[in-house]
Amino acid sequence: MNHETDSQQSDSQQTDSQQTGSQQTDFQQTSSGQADSRRTRDDDRSLVVVIGAGAIGTSIACRLIREHERVLLVDPLAPGNGTSFGNAGHISTESIFPLASPATIRDVPKLMFGKNAPLHLRREYFWQIAPWLLRFAWASRPSRFRAGVKAMQSLLARARDAMEELCADERLAELLHTRGHMVLAESKRSWRELENRRRLLERHGIESIWLDAVDTMAHAPFLREDFTGALFFPNSGHIGDPHGLCARLHERFADAGGESLRSRIHSIEPLDAGGFVLTGSSGKVAARKLVLAAGAWSAPLARQLGLVMPLETERGYHLTATGVGSISGVPVESQDRKTIMTPMDMGLRITGFVEFGGLDLPGNPQRWAELRRHFGELAPAVQAESFREWMGFRPSLPDHLPVIGEAPANPDAICAFGHQHLGLTLSAVTAEIVADLAAGRKTPIDLTPFRPDRF
Ligand SMILES: Cc1cc2nc3c(=O)[nH]c(=O)nc-3n(C[C@H](O)[C@H](O)[C@H](O)COP(=O)(O)OP(=O)(O)OC[C@H]3O[C@@H](n4cnc5c(N)ncnc54)[C@H](O)[C@@H]3O)c2cc1C
Repeated sequence: MNHETDSQQSDSQQTDSQQTGSQQTDFQQTSSGQADSRRTRDDDRSLVVVIGAGAIGTSIACRLIREHERVLLVDPLAPGNGTSFGNAGHISTESIFPLASPATIRDVPKLMFGKNAPLHLRREYFWQIAPWLLRFAWASRPSRFRAGVKAMQSLLARARDAMEELCADERLAELLHTRGHMVLAESKRSWRELENRRRLLERHGIESIWLDAVDTMAHAPFLREDFTGALFFPNSGHIGDPHGLCARLHERFADAGGESLRSRIHSIEPLDAGGFVLTGSSGKVAARKLVLAAGAWSAPLARQLGLVMPLETERGYHLTATGVGSISGVPVESQDRKTIMTPMDMGLRITGFVEFGGLDLPGNPQRWAELRRHFGELAPAVQAESFREWMGFRPSLPDHLPVIGEAPANPDAICAFGHQHLGLTLSAVTAEIVADLAAGRKTPIDLTPFRPDRF
């Protein structure tokens, strides 16, 4: 078996200064790499710039190009090569309980030190993450948690329909599967936890059904055969290729006349007359409006809009078994292992872990070894030609709610980042909201809990 490590996003991997898309932006660069600012300001008065081409940014760009004359998507990487590359693909509409919760605080010892512990803190990152962890603990108090549930429900109630609408063309529809997902319990304790979760979710109107052993296997034939049952969520779904989703959204955006630029933006300068000049590795761009959707890398740019964001990353890992032939079924979450196994177009993927280690430390090989063990124990009959290893950076705020809204100091700048474990799930609904904001329409969802200046 081969191992190909595919850990994402280091500066050395980035291909700056290339342009993609159906059209080239027409801002002019002088030989020194500086744009001719008079020309950019004259010509780009109508330009809406989206910074970041992950699931959030590509979905937003696709929505915006329907109603704006010119939209430019900027990223140093090709679309979908950030965290959106390797997620579990789960459209997790039932995840209404923010992780910032009394239950998480209570379970920290088990989450960090138990068998199959999913939570890891890199020792060398302790002092950097400590303030964020304190804020997370404070945001986990019961009153904030209850408010967080209400806020997440308001977004997630629309998430699946929004995704179906976003994927409503042939190219994209084949990636979206709306057959639900299921959760396995392998110990008495986790059966009890699962039953509690079922009851709590039922109170919030989320439907789930107990499956017997036969139905469990029918929904996920790749599993080992002795599972006695599972909890099934019929209204969730999955994307068969999360990276492919971004790539195809980008194709659609380009077909509709959207423009793309490979550039890492490092400065945002608001202009007195309105609009912005953005400076990046490919020079300057003038914009009438901008959308900041740079995932876990958004904080330094938000600061230039007057927003100090306690944005951290919860690193997560995947292992994708390729060469496994055709594998069908729904995503399988394990209550004991805190992993998700998803049948995907390119193979069978298992994801897991929350690791606090910032954006620069390399991945920990032990995490991939643990995923290999889980994989072998859950699906022992699946023979893989190779396993692809990957690590990504979930963008997370301490209250575990995303940031969606206009920057108070400059309503022409719209923030859309911090979608933590749910960026794929919430990408289409976030795009709808941003399109409303950019057009000056009232949003159907109350954005108060997600406002950028809440910290
Ligand atoms: C292991 C794992 C499993 C997951 N499973 C799921 C799941 O099943 N379901 C779900 O809903 N979510 C899941 N998630 C979370 C989800 O993947 C993220 O929330 C989502 O990918 C975030 O999308 P994004 O577009 O905000 O960020 P990204 O995909 O990271 O995109 C940000 C982009 O911004 C670009 N960028 C950065 N800095 C700059 C700059 N200065 N200028 C221009 N561009 C810049 C980056 O290159 C990148 O392409 C998972 C995450 C992990 C790690």
